[in-house]
Amino acid sequence: MTVFNKIKGYVRNNSNMKNDINYYLNKNYKINPLTESIRISIIYGVAGVLWIVLSDEIVSKFVPNFTDYKIVAMYKGWVYVAITTALILVLIERRLKLFKKAVDKIYNYLDEINEVNEELLVLEDELREQNEQLKESQNSLAISEQRYELAVEGADCGIWDWDIENGVYFFSDKWKNYLGYEKNEISNNFDAWVYLIHPDEREDVIEKINEYLSSREGPYESIYRMKSKNGEYRWILSKGKGIWTKEGRPIRVAGSHTDITEHKIADDRLNFLARYDSLTKLPNRLYFEEKVNEIIYNCSEDSRFSLVYMDVDNFKNINDTLGHETGDILLKYISSILIEEIKEPNFAGRLGGDEFAILFKNPENKREVRIKLNNILVKLKEPWVCNKHKFFNSYSIGIAQYPENGCTLSTLLKNADIAMYNVKKNSKDNLCFYTEAMQEKELKYVELVNDLRSAIEKEEFKLVYQPIINLNTFELIGVEALIRWNHPIQGIISPREFIPLAEETGLIFYIGSWVFKAAMLQKKEWEEMGYHNIQMSVNISGSRITRKSLTEDIINIINEVGLKFEEIQLEITETAVMKDVDAAIEVLNVLKAKGIKIALDDFGTGYSSITYLKKLPIDVVKIDKSFIDGVSQSKEDNIILENIIKLTHDLKLKVVAEGIETKEQLEFLKDKKCNYGQGYLFKKPVDKEEIEKLLMLSQFVLN
Ligand code: C2E
Ligand code: CA
Ligand code: CA
Repeated sequence: MTVFNKIKGYVRNNSNMKNDINYYLNKNYKINPLTESIRISIIYGVAGVLWIVLSDEIVSKFVPNFTDYKIVAMYKGWVYVAITTALILVLIERRLKLFKKAVDKIYNYLDEINEVNEELLVLEDELREQNEQLKESQNSLAISEQRYELAVEGADCGIWDWDIENGVYFFSDKWKNYLGYEKNEISNNFDAWVYLIHPDEREDVIEKINEYLSSREGPYESIYRMKSKNGEYRWILSKGKGIWTKEGRPIRVAGSHTDITEHKIADDRLNFLARYDSLTKLPNRLYFEEKVNEIIYNCSEDSRFSLVYMDVDNFKNINDTLGHETGDILLKYISSILIEEIKEPNFAGRLGGDEFAILFKNPENKREVRIKLNNILVKLKEPWVCNKHKFFNSYSIGIAQYPENGCTLSTLLKNADIAMYNVKKNSKDNLCFYTEAMQEKELKYVELVNDLRSAIEKEEFKLVYQPIINLNTFELIGVEALIRWNHPIQGIISPREFIPLAEETGLIFYIGSWVFKAAMLQKKEWEEMGYHNIQMSVNISGSRITRKSLTEDIINIINEVGLKFEEIQLEITETAVMKDVDAAIEVLNVLKAKGIKIALDDFGTGYSSITYLKKLPIDVVKIDKSFIDGVSQSKEDNIILENIIKLTHDLKLKVVAEGIETKEQLEFLKDKKCNYGQGYLFKKPVDKEEIEKLLMLSQFVLN
């Protein structure tokens, strides 16, 4: 039974055998030739044995007859051969089919292996190539890393890298060292970096970098101060560049830090110099105007402000007589008061020279501005002590209101300036608000300047002459030429009014030259009429006296007309000379060397008249009318006058008393041995005809 089962199993196994070779491969089937042969032989053998045992039995059962049996047995032999042959054929064919499949499979594998092998060869080539490229790029990476390290080491620059995703903020060691920190002293996080930024800039810096991160483009740049270990802050320029994800999320920003402290200091200094006045530290004209323009630009409908223009009275004199250094000290002193008194949002500026400007923002009314300015004036008018001397300065202040007096800076400045001029000329107060009436006055001024320009051509000028008398002999020794302007509409205009105008506008050069020539021609005319030895005294304006061209002008005219230098006298004032004493002395020396006489006019009205008596090459001193006015009115005045005369005589100079109006004054002066005099007591300045009448007399006769 078991044998039968085995055979059944074998047959089942064999019939189960898949035609597919994979079946065997999966079962890890190993072909064993001996086993296979034994298997076939056993099947054959079993079949043979069964046939022998069973076939005879069956045949003998069904074929009882021996002859038939013999025939059947013979056919049975043939059947046996046929069956066993078929059995062997089937068994061998099945096994060989399997072998064929196995061999086919192997050939297939071989083909595949060959293909793969070829591919592997190609891949190997590629890999070799890639390997070479990798080596090359490793080399260049090493070189560029080296180069980068050298550059970072060499430059005063640090590297920073903010890995936003991982919250790491990295500083290069070099930068940490630069700021004086050890490697581990600064943690690698954002807060550690923020902590080092100057508190004043912290917020701005964070805002700026956040702005940059949300901008998602371009380079990042920021300037701020970072604290070094010793507590000192350094200005740094931080530059960098960011990377964002496709969705725009920042991943990292990295860049460099450069110490720009020295640059920044120099830059700030340049900025300061460009915007502030180096002497007074106040905003200069440019910056002041920029600030005002900005306010005008941002003005709303109900905004208002007051623009104040201020100048120091007689600053020119202070500068001229006490020197520029003292003038500078005064300007600094004034500025320090302005800086102290004027607080934000109001501000002051120095527009140039002795001109200052103040802006008061949104004042309630004019009264408020006046009160504020008066408070400042109280301080400004306190005695100013310089070189142990006390000075009392006064100021002229003009105010223009925005928007009533103008909507542009230039109009406001012009109107504040007009108001200030008004103070100078008319007002006893120190300050004045601009009014339309002032504008009219200003227009008149401009008109007058225009008229003055054409006055020479139109022959509107003429000279009058005031006799100068020898107080001892009453002889007429000479005349002072004084200009008159006969304006076609306004009539006679006093030189006290238009000479300053001519000086302001530069017209004095033409007018002065005209006066001198006219006076010389007059003297020549008188000489030709037979009146010799009449001294002609001509006033020389302050602006001309320091000009070298003056000497040429004067000498040429005298030569051209043909007069004796000794009979010509020039009247100069102390304040005119002070502008540039050395230049004036040079000019006067040349003229004096020619023989021309020099008279110091208005003596006693300046700051240090006596000093200049010795310094200047003068021949004559003309004592100002104000000293003569005081005669017999106050004893002190008499003493002063007497001493001036004495002093002048001691210096071997001649004295002329100006503005003698009374006999009392005359008597006093005669008594004190004053050499010469002029004044209404003798004669007012008169036309040449009147002088000619006097010239006919040998001696002056008082009425
Ligand atoms: P100054 O040189 O001191 O001239 C004297 C002034 O005093 C003259 O005024 C004259 O008329 C006036 N005067 C003379 N005696 C008396 C008197 O007894 N009482 C009074 N109250 N006044 C008297 P004027 O002519 O009006 O000239 C004023 C000033 O104008 C001159 O003062 C001088 O500084 C300037 N000036 C006049 N003519 C010329 C000129 O041709 N060139 C320049 N550069 N300045 C001139
Ligand atoms: Ca004079
Ligand atoms: Ca005078």
